[in-house]
Amino acid sequence: MPESAEQVYARVVELVGEKGRLPMSPVHEWDIFPWEVVDGELQPKILLPPYAEAEPARAGVGGVDCDLCDDSDKGTKIWESWNFHVKRPAVPKGMPLVLWLNANEHMDYPDMSDDLAAEYGRISVWLCRIMERLPNIGRVHVSRWGDGSEHLHSWFIARTARLPNVKGSTAVEWDEMLPPAPEDVWQDDIATVARKLATHDGRALV
Ligand SMILES: [Zn+2]
Repeated sequence: MPESAEQVYARVVELVGEKGRLPMSPVHEWDIFPWEVVDGELQPKILLPPYAEAEPARAGVGGVDCDLCDDSDKGTKIWESWNFHVKRPAVPKGMPLVLWLNANEHMDYPDMSDDLAAEYGRISVWLCRIMERLPNIGRVHVSRWGDGSEHLHSWFIARTARLPNVKGSTAVEWDEMLPPAPEDVWQDDIATVARKLATHDGRALV
C-alpha cells in the first residue's frame, strides 16, 4: 500500500531535518518555467514574441522515431488491451504513483474515433478510481498536455492524502522534489492497479 503522509514526512525529515528544504528540482531550468528571480524577488518571466510561423514539431511526428510506438521497453508496460496500454516510469519518483494511459497505435488525442474515445473514457475512469481507492491516496490528477510527444498519452498522478502543500497542479513539481518511496512498495501498488484494471478489461503484465 502507498505510504502514509507520516511516512513520507518522516523520510523527508530524515533527509533534510525538520525545517530543512529539499534540493531544488530541475524544473526552474525548464524554458517553460514561468517565474525567475529578479533583484531578489520572484517575478513572472518576460513573454517571448510568437514563433514566426508554426510551432516546432513535437517528438514522434507521424510515428517516426516515436518513443511511445517503440515497444522495446516492455518492462514499463503494466497493462494492455486491444487498443490501449498503461505504462509506469522506469523508477519511482516523488509522488506515490504516476502512470500513463497510452494508445497502442500512433495517434493524437483528437484523432480518436467516437468508439475509441468512449473506450478511453471508460478506462480513464476505472484507472483513476482504482488508484484513488488505494490506501493513503488523497486524489488522482488526470492530465493530458501533449506538448512533448504527438503520441496519445494521459497522466494519472496520485498524491498522498493529508500533505497540506502537495496539492493541485504542482504535483508535477513535487514529483521531481520529494524523495522516492521504497521500490518494493511502489512495485506492489503497480501490481495491484494492473490486476484490478484487468478485472474490467485487458490483461495485467506485472
Ligand atoms: Zn507513436
